[in-house]
Amino acid sequence: MVPSFCRPSRVVVDLEAIRHNVSEEKKRIGIEKELFAVVKANGYGHGAVQVAKAAIEAGATGLAVSNLDEALELRRANIVEPILVLSYVSIEFVPLAIANDITLTATNLDWIKDLNNIVNQPIKIHLKIDSGMGRVGLNDIDEMKEANQILKSNSLINFEGLFTHFAKADSLDTSYVVLQQERFTKAIDIFGRDIKYIHASNSALALWHDAWESNLVRFGVAMYGMNPSGTEVKEPFILKQALTLETEITHVKQLEQGEKVGYGITYETSEKEWIATLPIGYADGLVRKYQGFEVLVNGKKMPIVGRICMDQCMIKLDEKLPVGTKVTIFGYDGEQFNSIQSGAEYVETINYEVTCILTDRLPRVYLR
Ligand SMILES: *Cc1c(COP(=O)(O)O)cnc(C)c1O
Repeated sequence: MVPSFCRPSRVVVDLEAIRHNVSEEKKRIGIEKELFAVVKANGYGHGAVQVAKAAIEAGATGLAVSNLDEALELRRANIVEPILVLSYVSIEFVPLAIANDITLTATNLDWIKDLNNIVNQPIKIHLKIDSGMGRVGLNDIDEMKEANQILKSNSLINFEGLFTHFAKADSLDTSYVVLQQERFTKAIDIFGRDIKYIHASNSALALWHDAWESNLVRFGVAMYGMNPSGTEVKEPFILKQALTLETEITHVKQLEQGEKVGYGITYETSEKEWIATLPIGYADGLVRKYQGFEVLVNGKKMPIVGRICMDQCMIKLDEKLPVGTKVTIFGYDGEQFNSIQSGAEYVETINYEVTCILTDRLPRVYLR
């Protein structure tokens, strides 16, 4: 989908908020620890390149993404900082990673053996340990020992990182964190502590578990100003939401009592009502479940009425307003604020998903 610039619906990203969230976290973790900004999935929907640059300005010393294409996008934008691909990359793409100075993650023993056989130029590798996420990484002690031997005996392999990922660091119940810590400690004992980067912290572990056994924080959701736990655990400093989703009224009319609105005629006016149309719909990521969610118009809350269509939706106004009136779906409107979290709760998901599913049709506009 092409970004639709000739339409007033857009995502506005406040890069000052990104810089605030990064520099506050940098202050907390101290100068001996590094922070890599996680900008996978187009920077959680915010735009990977712009967010990456803002994070670097604020003190991030590297970037993390989920796949090689995302890493290459950053290199094409002339970003020179280290870039770590966090998950599996097929061995056939190793030369492409090397050519672009991208750090890859070793996720299983066979891949390490293959790498050992084919590598003919220096490559930076981080090894992933599965300490209880059950996703990727080594979880067997014998395999770890074998991996250690291979990684350290091939001089072309720069084995510069050892890491794991926590499955439940965003909860008041810390028992699973303790279990994963124990397992990762055993792994570190095998590989030794003289590896350049040992890292375990996503946002949640960094915010609430003091970036344990780690000299590098992989800072994702909190950088965008969203609490990784939703509302369960309180953030240690103010996280500023970077994303605003806004549009404008494109049509206004008054409907008589008993008139219907939208597909399936799920909404009926209970009196004479002013109904406005917005040029945004589920093809933008405003999923149909947002029916009934209250958006902000002139500092007041107005509900989405009727089913959300692919490209449009309708809201109920409390008075007649002109076409072109600004509507804020997420973000500030005067004193009123719609958090991403409130949207996530409304559609029964997590804040991460709300921003990730905003599609390319919405232009991204940046506030310096
Ligand atoms: C996505 C991801 C992160 C960042 O997680 P947040 O919860 O957004 O901070 C860190 N590490 C890995 C391996 C990830 O996949």
